[in-house]
Amino acid sequence: MSTTLHGAPFGTGPSGEPVLHGRRCLTCGHASFPRQPYGCEACGAAGPGDPLDLPAAGTVRAAATVHRHPDPRVAVPFTLVSVRLDGGPLVRGVHAGTAAAGDRVRARLEGEGDRTALRFESERR
Ligand SMILES: [Zn+2]
Repeated sequence: MSTTLHGAPFGTGPSGEPVLHGRRCLTCGHASFPRQPYGCEACGAAGPGDPLDLPAAGTVRAAATVHRHPDPRVAVPFTLVSVRLDGGPLVRGVHAGTAAAGDRVRARLEGEGDRTALRFESERR
């Protein structure tokens, strides 16, 4: 798992489901990701806000298939998605297959320890 200066960006919730570690502004209530101590991106209020675990589910806003990558160890093609989380923030990640704008997706955790990563997959219709 890659970590930020302020801890791991994601983990598991009480039922073992993946969650993204975000924050909620104490002034305006804006939810954002990742968790950081500097302040609110919406209203500018200083401080870390309240920790907020965001469910790793949402709706695809945009998707792009990557066919070439400068690192030959990275397998192509793969799909990058911008996902509006149900909890508010817009995040980008890798999709396990193909996706299109409007698709409902949910993330799962792959790998173990320091190599844990989030990967989105489409919800069954
Ligand atoms: Zn705010």
